[in-house]
Amino acid sequence: MVPIIDLQSEYRLLKPDIDAALERVLASGAFVGGPEVAALERELSEYLGVPHVVGVGSGTDALFIALRALGVGPGDEVVTTPFTFVATVEAILVAGAKPVLVDIDPLTFNLDPELLEAAVTERTRAVLPVHLYGQVAPMAEIRAVAERHGLKVLEDAAQAIGARYCEAGGAGGAMAGTLGHAAGFSLYPTKNLGAYGDGGFIATADDAVAEEARLLASHGSKVRYHHVRAAGYTSRLDGLQAAILRVKLPRLEGWNRRRREIARRYDEGLRGAVRTPTPPPYAHHVYHQYTVRAPERDRLQAFLKERGVASSVHYPLPVHLQPAYRGLAPEGSLPHAEQAAREVLSLPVHPFLTDAQVEAVIEAVRAYSN
Ligand SMILES: *Cc1c(COP(=O)(O)O)cnc(C)c1O
Repeated sequence: MVPIIDLQSEYRLLKPDIDAALERVLASGAFVGGPEVAALERELSEYLGVPHVVGVGSGTDALFIALRALGVGPGDEVVTTPFTFVATVEAILVAGAKPVLVDIDPLTFNLDPELLEAAVTERTRAVLPVHLYGQVAPMAEIRAVAERHGLKVLEDAAQAIGARYCEAGGAGGAMAGTLGHAAGFSLYPTKNLGAYGDGGFIATADDAVAEEARLLASHGSKVRYHHVRAAGYTSRLDGLQAAILRVKLPRLEGWNRRRREIARRYDEGLRGAVRTPTPPPYAHHVYHQYTVRAPERDRLQAFLKERGVASSVHYPLPVHLQPAYRGLAPEGSLPHAEQAAREVLSLPVHPFLTDAQVEAVIEAVRAYSN
């Protein structure tokens, strides 16, 4: 089987370093917060080029804590995309605000900036773009609308650590997570930078937002047993996870390079067989997922499975068609998101795939289309 993810190979490669890091934390007794978490926050802020990183308990927590820290709450509307992991929309509800969904651009799968402005009302406080699959959203256009209307921009960068936004197709570019007022990242094990448990962090250049997020994540307190915000949360990174992530962070760029190399190979090998991704010139894509479109997606998935190739569907339902979220928008009103949900299929693209496995995936997909 060509697996969709291979965390066992990763651990085999890193075992001496990870085991040493775990022993260091076990001996220190610093299990929640502590020096490993502080060091990881510093290293992440250097890597991203952002002044503040605040470790929290998950990517979902990062989003709703950041929303609250940005001043979003009851009575406010937050505009976002229906074609995302449910946590994006869930975070808006947990923060007490109302999610407003606008359709995606079918070429990028990201929120369509052309539709954004029409969704803004006098209650809109923020826009929450998602860098889906590791490809940055069209941030210049999104930011322009936000500036015209005085909105906060919170990036959902859960799938996009290391992705970059290159103005005018130029080289270099700014990291995903530094393109708005704040960003939420996930450290869930299958993400491009994954812990061995749950974790997440907020990135921001704003001193006050960072301070507020840190307060909220720890019972509204800065000085122990003195609480200045109600109600806060218990949402912190633990020392074991931070120590593991410090072993992995220096390897992230190399792993993302390997993902991009596999994507290049798929782009060539799958041309004409399925619709391959079309990243716009501004997007330095890190391929958290390599997602194709096929009209009879479920049949393709079953065929690949028979041939020993795993695949997955991100996501089979847009958020507004989830049983718990019906009422946010009627069926048929977000047609590009609904069509994408019927057609998308993510192929294995993790950095531990061998060249032979990559070729096997291409061969299987081509055999289906012939
Ligand atoms: C994974 C993910 C999240 C949530 O992160 P968790 O760490 O699982 O809470 C949020 N948004 C998107 C787009 C994600 O992929």
